[in-house]
Amino acid sequence: MNLSFSADEQAFRQQVRDFLATSLPNEIRERVRLGRRLTADDHIRWQNILSARGWLAVNWPETHGGPGWGPVERHIFDEECAAAHAPTIVPFGVNMVAPVIIKFGSEAQQYYYLPRILNNQDWWCQGYSEPGAGSDLASLKTRAVRDGDHYVVTGQKTWTTLGQYANMMFCLVRTDPEAKKQAGISFLLIDMASPGITVRPIITLDGAHEVNEVFLDEVRVPVANRIGDEGQGWTCAKFLLTHERTGIAGLGHAKQALRHLKQLASCVQHRGRPLLELASFRQRVIRAELELMALEVTNLRVIAAARDGGMPGAESSLLKVRGSELRQELSELTRRALGPAALPFLPEFLYGDTELDDPVLAVSAAGAPQYFNRRKLSIYGGSNEIQKSIVAKTILGM
Ligand SMILES: Cc1cc2nc3c(=O)[nH]c(=O)nc-3n(C[C@H](O)[C@H](O)[C@H](O)COP(=O)(O)OP(=O)(O)OC[C@H]3O[C@@H](n4cnc5c(N)ncnc54)[C@H](O)[C@@H]3O)c2cc1C
Repeated sequence: MNLSFSADEQAFRQQVRDFLATSLPNEIRERVRLGRRLTADDHIRWQNILSARGWLAVNWPETHGGPGWGPVERHIFDEECAAAHAPTIVPFGVNMVAPVIIKFGSEAQQYYYLPRILNNQDWWCQGYSEPGAGSDLASLKTRAVRDGDHYVVTGQKTWTTLGQYANMMFCLVRTDPEAKKQAGISFLLIDMASPGITVRPIITLDGAHEVNEVFLDEVRVPVANRIGDEGQGWTCAKFLLTHERTGIAGLGHAKQALRHLKQLASCVQHRGRPLLELASFRQRVIRAELELMALEVTNLRVIAAARDGGMPGAESSLLKVRGSELRQELSELTRRALGPAALPFLPEFLYGDTELDDPVLAVSAAGAPQYFNRRKLSIYGGSNEIQKSIVAKTILGM
């Protein structure tokens, strides 16, 4: 197993760096660097730039418009994007529903939806979770009753990320209440403009509107919008979840957060000396750095195995657990480094283009909101407790 990068891979890294240096708009880079909130237009603008370069659908096969990269190129690309403060790609269309459409969709569905995802014409959201069906997703209750060439869908979805911008939702519905839990589920593509859909915001701890509740009241969905056979939804759902978990360790982001933390803790003074020299603080930073290095080696091992034809199994759960814990620790240390400067909550700065004259305040304003926002990392994409159970069963045989 070779964990080092070849000359070609290093040349590819330089190519990505050059592209980011010239193509990532400065105002977007600054918003990400300062932890400001991005608008839907910021995301679409950046994704259009990537799409024009052929680098948006990095997980897709070349036959459908992917760049033909292997796992190493994808890893390098993610790392460089995080280092350059590029926005994270909104995953629901390009990285989540698209692979399902490619694997299970009909030719007509592929022909219609895939180009729209590549062109950022459609904004997708994920209608999986319900109140009472999160970790135990298969107990979902949203009903779809057949009526001619339509389904009539009624139920409630929750935690729908960025659903306020979405015009399409991929949704798990129960088409057969009599069948075994998993067997009665189907996978539908729902137009968010359909009569009977209500989207209500959920405001999170950091004051952000990132997630929503979606109510479906007798929504008519054409049968042609079903992916795969009726009752095959669980297979699609599981396939999609493996894509959701890939990259959730967020190594590139963790590296960027560590660089930021070290820089901050070298500037912030504690009793006349840089905070980074305070033994108790320094120890935690060093431990985080060591854990990050260990996680990176694990990640590279998984990538090397994939390059040699292997499939990541429970390792992706392991990466998710350790990656999310580490990113939470880094945001906790950053908040501590900022101290009282993290306290002011300045929505006008986070949302708007207001400039802050005070450079310390400009770097600090996102400290507390980001700390609160990072709490989500250990919950979404399958909570860490559930991932630990997967590791216990599949690796430890417990
Ligand atoms: C910020 C955010 C964004 C999200 N975005 C989306 C989205 O866009 N679309 C979507 O469909 N969903 C989304 N989710 C939902 C997410 O997938 C669920 O929150 C997650 O699966 C956990 O489900 P739950 O919240 O219902 O918690 P529950 O399943 O009720 O679990 C509560 C607690 O009990 C633990 N627990 C439950 N069962 C077990 C068990 N068997 N063994 C050990 N511990 C257990 C859990 O780990 C957790 O700590 C999002 C969630 C968050 C927080």
